[in-house]
Amino acid sequence: MARYDYDLITIGAGSGGVRASRLSGKYGAKVAIVEGTRVGGTCVLRGCVPKKLLVFGAHYAHHFEDAVGYGWTVGTATHDWGAMIAAKDKELDRLEGVYNRMLRDANVEIVNGRGVLADAHTVEVNGKRLTAEKILVATGGWPVVPDFPGKEHVITSNEALDLKERPKRILIFGGGYIAVEFAGIFAALGSEVHIVIRAGEILRGFDQDVRATLSAELQKQGIKIQRDCTIRSIEPCDDDSYSVMLNMGEEIRCDKVMFATGRAPNTANIGLEAAGVRLNARNAVAVDADSRSNVESIFAIGDVTDRVNLTPVAINEGRCFAETFFNKNPMQMDHANVPAAVFSHPPVSVVGLTEEQARKDHKVRIFTSRFKPMVHTLSGRDERTMMKLIVDKATDKVLGCHMVGEDAPEIIQGLAVAVKCGATKAQFDATVGIHPTAAEEFVTMRDAVPEKEQATAEL
Ligand code: NDP
Repeated sequence: MARYDYDLITIGAGSGGVRASRLSGKYGAKVAIVEGTRVGGTCVLRGCVPKKLLVFGAHYAHHFEDAVGYGWTVGTATHDWGAMIAAKDKELDRLEGVYNRMLRDANVEIVNGRGVLADAHTVEVNGKRLTAEKILVATGGWPVVPDFPGKEHVITSNEALDLKERPKRILIFGGGYIAVEFAGIFAALGSEVHIVIRAGEILRGFDQDVRATLSAELQKQGIKIQRDCTIRSIEPCDDDSYSVMLNMGEEIRCDKVMFATGRAPNTANIGLEAAGVRLNARNAVAVDADSRSNVESIFAIGDVTDRVNLTPVAINEGRCFAETFFNKNPMQMDHANVPAAVFSHPPVSVVGLTEEQARKDHKVRIFTSRFKPMVHTLSGRDERTMMKLIVDKATDKVLGCHMVGEDAPEIIQGLAVAVKCGATKAQFDATVGIHPTAAEEFVTMRDAVPEKEQATAEL
């Protein structure tokens, strides 16, 4: 008689939970995955995938405009928001089916319902108690909307992806990943877009040159950025619009108010207290390098642990968990030099340290390149690309690569391999560029920015 019903119960069928469960199932473990809504999680259903489809859709607007410079006559292009949302939903249904099939093929039992921990080996679902030797918490995160008058009128990225109509005017509060990505989508499709941020610049935590470059590019597209500012109140008006009062007294009228003010780990009401699981100061499950919580049998991966909140990181954490505990192949996720991208327009992508971070522990040489991308010599679009390398003076190692510009995420993915391998600037220089591309600039930056001209030299 087995001591438990399962070897593994995973709570949450998002990217991390599905990967961990599938692999564990493939390695012969008896696995159940508990999910309260649809299989797929944030990335597939409410994040990366639908957002990127909307980014693709929106940027046809730019392609139509740019084509004219190449001799095309483009008739009046019109966009059907509803058709795009319906096409996106159809694709999400397909992906959900794929995820379900992959789980079944790995002999993972899908249990529909909300999973709540009852003790170190028990999960309650729909009043039924299921036991397992190991429990994996992969419940992800959820948008945070701070408390203030009018909170009930705002939407988050969850609702923005399912709007019946495109708002003609939208105010986005927050200046992180989600804010700038949605600003790009709505602006390209013709909406009037306001970004309101409490800080002096968008994209806190990114390199200063990246922040300044993207903010200049967003403003060129007509996106208005209100800095050092917060929202005092939001009131509905008779014409279905909203009146948003800013703390400095200014009023902005808009059709939707979207909050992109961060996400918090989904740790409430899932029985973590009952099972004795310790949370950290940010209310995330505190875990060690094996993703194990303070309770021997309970593990957690992905956004619920608030380490690096990106889908591929959750997937890798899930893989390490399955390899270690169900395939006798111990693996730990390395959270250093994780590349990331922001699918703004133009997009941002980075790997490694920002100049500010690098200067804390290293003497650095900085290389930057700013140029008009070749495609826009004829299109006439006023858009510039920025690339930046941060190099350790002592070892010549490339500590950080940053780019704002078309295809940045595609370009940085390859450079992330080089940075992970500890490549030096001399090795970048010895690499032959592919001509004519924007990417070749990364291997042809010869002159370091003089110390006195460096943006953050004084930090
Ligand atoms: P971010 O943490 O990126 O940004 C949050 C923004 O909200 C910041 O501008 C922050 O301001 C502001 N903010 C936070 N709290 C308040 C408050 N109380 N009042 C006013 N402003 C506030 O969060 P997002 O919601 O944009 O995204 C959540 C996470 O999702 C990201 O961190 C990322 O991990 C992930 N994500 C990844 C994507 C990708 O990989 N492309 C895409 C989308 C999301 P301040 O700068 O002052 O702190």
